[in-house]
Amino acid sequence: MGTLELLLDLHLRNDRQGPGGDEETRRAIELARLDPALPIEAADIGCGTGASALVLARALNARVTALDAAEPFVARLRERAAGAGLADRIEARVGQMESPPFRERSLDLIWSEGAIYNMGFGAGLRAWRPFLRAGGVLAVTELSWTTAQRPPEVEAHWTSEYPGIRTVAENLGTLEREGYHPLACFVLPENCWEQNYYAPLRAGFAAFLDRHAGDLDAAAIVAAEQAEMALRARHGAWYGYAFYIASRGADSEG
Ligand code: SAH
Repeated sequence: MGTLELLLDLHLRNDRQGPGGDEETRRAIELARLDPALPIEAADIGCGTGASALVLARALNARVTALDAAEPFVARLRERAAGAGLADRIEARVGQMESPPFRERSLDLIWSEGAIYNMGFGAGLRAWRPFLRAGGVLAVTELSWTTAQRPPEVEAHWTSEYPGIRTVAENLGTLEREGYHPLACFVLPENCWEQNYYAPLRAGFAAFLDRHAGDLDAAAIVAAEQAEMALRARHGAWYGYAFYIASRGADSEG
């Protein structure tokens, strides 16, 4: 089994594939200042198994197109949506975030938790803005430095794992430069990492290693996840996931 298939197998059974929380998704929905009664078109890009798509469909009068490159995640979200009675509100589709299947100016809301890093924050913002209607809202989470300086060990880890990592202030500047109007920004609390993401992942390690006994790639994946968790325990104060909520605004093109 290839590394990608192994990663999908490790994460498939979990509610979330990155740090986050339903409460924080709801908080961001409030900060987006959308009328919960108004019918809207929403997209959840890099939806994984769909935790945020499910919250969006419940909290808003939204039709949610949930997009992910990984077919097993999309299939899992279809099951979850059907189980929650939300199949008519959530359309889960396989697709690439670099070329999403949306028409220009067709979306009132673009959501993306823990996924825009696959394109890079600025590149994702630039690529997705045309799909928003005037006044439409974007809400994304992104791994971010929480200070201007940090210890060398944590600096070295994340600049190697994700060279695109920037401070919260730099990312707000990027939003503005890409033509968005920031509405709000908050850093996810620690339970979004430990309780909601790392604990369920850790609980699945033994069964995962059983399913792939003798597979060196599988062992390496678990070791890398454990190293990331240990780094968080030592240096978690220096980085976090921040929610960035911004409006496309009215623009000069009309
Ligand atoms: N939003 C979910 C998943 C975050 S993990 C959550 O918060 O739980 C990042 C997701 O991005 C994965 O599901 C992965 O399959 C997806 N992904 C990675 N590259 C992608 C691409 N190029 N296009 C679409 N989805 C992609």
